[in-house]
Amino acid sequence: MALIVQKYGGSSVADATAIKRVAHRIAEAKRAGDDVVVVVSAMGDTTDELLDLANQVSPKPPSREMDILLTAGERISMALLAMAIANLGVEAQAFTGQQAGVITDDAHGKARIIDVKAGRIHQALDEGAVAIVAGFQGVTEHTNDVTTLGRGGSDTTAVAIAAAIDADVCEIYTDVDGVFTADPRIVPTARKIARITYEEMLDMAASGAKVLGLRCVEYGRRHGVRIHVRSSFSGHTGTLVTDEPQPALEGEGTMEQPIIAGVAHDRSEAKITVVGVPDVPGTAAQIFETVAASGVNIDMIVQNVSAAQTGLTDISFTLPAADGQRAIAALDAVRGAIGFASLQYDDTIGKLSLVGAGMKSHPGVSARLFGALRDAGINIEMISTSEIRVSVVTRADQLDDAVRAVHTAFGLDSTEGEAVVYGGTGR
Ligand code: ADP
Ligand code: ASP
Ligand code: MG
Repeated sequence: MALIVQKYGGSSVADATAIKRVAHRIAEAKRAGDDVVVVVSAMGDTTDELLDLANQVSPKPPSREMDILLTAGERISMALLAMAIANLGVEAQAFTGQQAGVITDDAHGKARIIDVKAGRIHQALDEGAVAIVAGFQGVTEHTNDVTTLGRGGSDTTAVAIAAAIDADVCEIYTDVDGVFTADPRIVPTARKIARITYEEMLDMAASGAKVLGLRCVEYGRRHGVRIHVRSSFSGHTGTLVTDEPQPALEGEGTMEQPIIAGVAHDRSEAKITVVGVPDVPGTAAQIFETVAASGVNIDMIVQNVSAAQTGLTDISFTLPAADGQRAIAALDAVRGAIGFASLQYDDTIGKLSLVGAGMKSHPGVSARLFGALRDAGINIEMISTSEIRVSVVTRADQLDDAVRAVHTAFGLDSTEGEAVVYGGTGR
């Protein structure tokens, strides 16, 4: 008998039929003798629809009330799922994040889990019930305000609960068969990855592969949670995220790890260029102190060589497009003090990232990446690298072609047919 956490994403519970299908899956696991805790997301695109609604009644919805609104999505799906399971003759008890003991800090809209007091979950399991927990939400320790964990946060809820109850595995059920070498919606020839390390999965998630949230992978790594990403629409084995060494098959040597794990893409960033910056010590510090003080996280930075005659340079950086106007307003307010000429804002960029632990020890990875983009006629606007990642910024409308070209250039295309996308709208 195992203790399993199963997380079902929005596309797996998009309507009543889907909820009943998932209920069957859960009841089967329970009948097979396992203890099951389920974490569920809001149905389909509910969270996006609630966000749209909020923006229709207010251009700047207060973050505390926004969280109260958004947590409603997961409350609906948890209750419906518990009802559907009960209807199959298996006891199920639904819990809000607060009831499940998910304690967070008070950063509304991007709260961090600081503790999981899993008493109610243990009690439900002891009573022989399946515990259904609303994902993506918690409650602050002192004020009892409800919080949300940021987009895709139900993955984090699932891993945090798996860590708290010491589950044998945390299964993340979604609308594709696992983690692929690229998003199967863009690269139909993407290959399913059987095992991936936390390190590589962290960089894939940080680079936009939303199949797993970044914080979920961080949490899983810190607490050693085995994460199994798989489809709720098929019976296939998915992708195991773990640092455990691969069990050697009899008669086989250890297989060499591939150089590249995959290609991720991100369309959610924008680029700000600060034009005509005096090239003297301290201006970069002033610019980025201003951006930081407005609460905005930046990603890539490029500074041009200054023109000898003018002593002026341009500095470009990328940031989440959602924070773009805030950063522009903050910078505009210090234009005189810093003495730059103007600001340019561009939200039609895309970012492609090539991720693989093998690049630490293999020369020529960047050269092959740039060569593939050249052959596809795609211009590179910015570049950044880490030990296991190379990222480039391109025009947004060339991003899909770029991802496909790079995927092919690194020999990642599958020869075994196309990857299946079972559901979801890709929103
Ligand atoms: P859920 O609603 O189950 O949380 P998400 O939409 O958050 O699902 O994540 C699943 C989606 O992630 C897939 O449908 C796919 O389009 C996208 N995705 C992006 N990169 C990858 C990748 N490397 N492997 C698999 N899926 C990916
Ligand atoms: N419903 C939330 C979202 O759409 C959380 C999640 O699905 O993980 O972001
Ligand atoms: Mg998700």
